[in-house]
Amino acid sequence: MLEIRDVSVHFGGGESGIVALSRVNLTIRPGEFIVALGESGCGKTTLLSAIAGFLEPTEGEILLDGHPIVGPGADRGVVFQRHALMPWLDVAENVAFALKMRGVPRAERRRVATEMLGLVGLSDFAGKKIYELSGGMQQRVGIARALASDPRALLMDEPFGALDAFTREQVQELVLEVWQRTGKMAFFITHDVEEAVFLATKLVVMSPRPGPIVETIDLPFSRAFLEGRDARRVKSDPAFIAMRERVLALVHRRRPAGQEAS
Ligand code: ATP
Repeated sequence: MLEIRDVSVHFGGGESGIVALSRVNLTIRPGEFIVALGESGCGKTTLLSAIAGFLEPTEGEILLDGHPIVGPGADRGVVFQRHALMPWLDVAENVAFALKMRGVPRAERRRVATEMLGLVGLSDFAGKKIYELSGGMQQRVGIARALASDPRALLMDEPFGALDAFTREQVQELVLEVWQRTGKMAFFITHDVEEAVFLATKLVVMSPRPGPIVETIDLPFSRAFLEGRDARRVKSDPAFIAMRERVLALVHRRRPAGQEAS
């Protein structure tokens, strides 16, 4: 379990200092898919960076299975906005890079890379160079790499933001399938409302700076997709559309469509 306790992050001091996060409390349990949603600048990346151990909270603490997070670690796999893969290595070498750094023998690295690439549907691309893959495939390699160390939590920072709409829908479905098969805790950030409502088992809506949580909402749509494997059916369901409008209104602090002030 991942516990975020009263976490604040300040950048700089004095009058020019920025409060990027203010007293955030959140618990992520095994098997949950948490999505943090909010407008640009509300502190989503700051929160993910604190969980990843890339930055230290100014106040508060983050615990993973009861142990304070004090820096990056193999127990948290991160998928970045841009794929951040190494172009001089092939796909399998990218996936297994962190294992190589930790001294894992070659045969075991190959086994893990093969398994992870199978999980993201790229078994036939192990020997390709990164530039030979489409943007969506590169992000799938990023997911395989993040999973290679068998982390407790998978942290994803707007991973599909640069993809076209069609590819984005495909990788959303893939990430849910991978989440279901691996049973990882997932923490995903986005400013796309439809993506957030589709993926989350728990949606965390953040307000503009300094980023407290406005509301957390339990959602059924990702599990509905995994039962029926029909994303269009889920996204065109009136309950999904009503939730999307409600969340849109929350993010932008206005009334849902059809409920204009009298
Ligand atoms: P986006 O969706 O645009 O990525 P975000 O919600 O992820 O935005 P953050 O990147 O977490 O927001 O930034 C929150 C606030 O903190 C912003 O005002 C940003 O300018 C500021 N900030 C982030 N990192 C730093 C830093 N290293 N130094 C100073 N200010 C920072």
